[in-house]
Amino acid sequence: MELYKLGIRQAQKGLADGDFTSVELVQSVIDRVHERDGEIGAYLTFDETGALAAAKAADDARRTGGAADAPFLGIPIAIKDLINVKGQPCTCASKILEGYVSPYDATVVTNLRKAGFIPAGRVNMDEFAMGSSTENSALGVTRNPHDTTRVPGGSSGGSAAAVGGDLCIAALGTDTGGSIRQPASFCGCVGVKPSYGRVSRYGVTAFASSLDQVGPMTKTVDDSALLLGVLAGHDEMDGTTPRDPVPDYAAALDGASMKGVRLGLAKEYMNVSGMDPEVKRITDEAIAKCEAAGAELVEVSLPHTEYAMAVYYIIAPAEASANLARFDGVRYGHRSAAAKDVFSLYTKSRAEGFGPEVKRRIIMGTYVLSSGYYDAYYGRAQRVRTLIKRDFDRAFAKVDALITPCAPTPAFKFGANQDPLTMYLNDLYTIPSALAGVCASSVPAGLTKDGLPVGVQFICGGFEESKLLCVSKAFEMAAAT
Ligand code: GLN
Repeated sequence: MELYKLGIRQAQKGLADGDFTSVELVQSVIDRVHERDGEIGAYLTFDETGALAAAKAADDARRTGGAADAPFLGIPIAIKDLINVKGQPCTCASKILEGYVSPYDATVVTNLRKAGFIPAGRVNMDEFAMGSSTENSALGVTRNPHDTTRVPGGSSGGSAAAVGGDLCIAALGTDTGGSIRQPASFCGCVGVKPSYGRVSRYGVTAFASSLDQVGPMTKTVDDSALLLGVLAGHDEMDGTTPRDPVPDYAAALDGASMKGVRLGLAKEYMNVSGMDPEVKRITDEAIAKCEAAGAELVEVSLPHTEYAMAVYYIIAPAEASANLARFDGVRYGHRSAAAKDVFSLYTKSRAEGFGPEVKRRIIMGTYVLSSGYYDAYYGRAQRVRTLIKRDFDRAFAKVDALITPCAPTPAFKFGANQDPLTMYLNDLYTIPSALAGVCASSVPAGLTKDGLPVGVQFICGGFEESKLLCVSKAFEMAAAT
C-alpha cells in the first residue's frame, strides 16, 4: 500500500485497525520524499531519525492504550518553516534565520503533540510569509507537483506542494492575506484560514499580527475539520484567543448538505478584469453545482472590496516593519562579519540577512508609520478596514456563506509575476476576508484544460468554522459527482 497517499482520517483508521504501524507510515512518507522531493522541493529540512524514533515511540504507546488520549497517535505532519518546533530549525525561509534552532514548541505544536501527531519535516515558504509563489524563499525553489514548470503559490507553497504532491499526510500553513488559500488552490488541496483569534499564534513568527492565522492544509475537508479541532482554542500565551469552546468540527460534518444553504455571490468578486477565463469557467460551474445540490443563491454586495488591497498593503507592511525589528543581529539570527560598531551591526546584519521583498515591506511599513504620514496612511487604512468588516457583517445577515474565486489565475510559471504589484494582485479575493477577520476555505473545484487545479473559496462569519466546513464538505461531495 502507498501509505504516503493517505489523509489524516485514513491514516488514523489504518493505525487503529493495526493495518500498518506508525513506523511504516513515517517510512513511507520518507521514501516518497526521497523519490519525489528532489524535483518538487517542498521540504527545507526533514529530521528522519527524529521522526522515526517518534513513530517507534507511538507504536509502543499504542500497544499500551496510548491512543485513547491521543487520537492521532503516530501520524506525521509537515510544518511551515515559521512555526517553532523545539529542536528543529525555524528559518522563515530567510538567510537571517539560517541555522536557528527553536528552543520551544509553538502552542499549535504542543496541541499537535498532545493529539499524537509527529511534527515531521519543515516546509518551504516565501521569506517571512511575504509573497504568493514561494519564489521569495531565500533557501530553495518549490515546484508545483501538478506541473513543475509552475509555482506552487505562496506563501505556504511548501505546505501546499507537500499535500498536493502526496509528500505528507497533512500540513500546517499560515494565512495573513491568502497564504493558505491561494497555494491550496494552486496545488489542489483543501486549506482553511480560521477566524482571527481561533488559533493561537504563540511560537509562530509574526508577520502582521492583526491578520496572521495558522490553519490546516489537507487532502480532504474532513481532514481539515479534524486538524482544526486540534489547533483551535484559547491559549494563555496569546491574548487574541477567546475562551469560546471549540466545537467538534469533524462531528459537525455529519450530514453536511447544500440543501437550504443561502450562498452569497458578491458582485464585486465576479467579472474582475484579469481573471483567467478558466478560473471563471470553473467558478461558474462550482456555483451551478452548489445550486444543483440545493443551495439558494443570493446576490450580495461588498462595496468596499476595491480598497482592500490598498488597505492590506499599508497595514500588513506597517505591522511587519515593527515585528521584524527584532532581527538585529544581536540576540539571534545572522550577524554581519563586517560590522564595526553597534549601528553597522544592525544595518549590515539586516541588509545581508533580509531578501528584497522583505526589505520592500519594511521600507513601506516604516514610511506609513512615520510621523506626518501615520494619519494619512495607517490611520485611514484602519478606518477603511472597519468599513470592509462591516460589508461582511451586512452580507452575513443575509447569507450563510459566500462563494468566490480563490485566486484570479491557476498556478503561473516561474518568473511570470516579476513586478511586485502584479504579484500582489494574486490575493485580490483572499485579502478582504483576512482584513475582516472572518474564516474562509479553499476547496478544489476542478482542473483547467491544461490539467491545473483550481480551488473555490467559501467565506463564513467570525467563529463560524463549523458552518464553513459543512459548506466546504457539501461542495466537495457535489464536485465529486
Ligand atoms: N501574498 C500576500 C502577501 O504577500 C499574503 C501573504 C500571507 O498571507 N502570508 O502579503
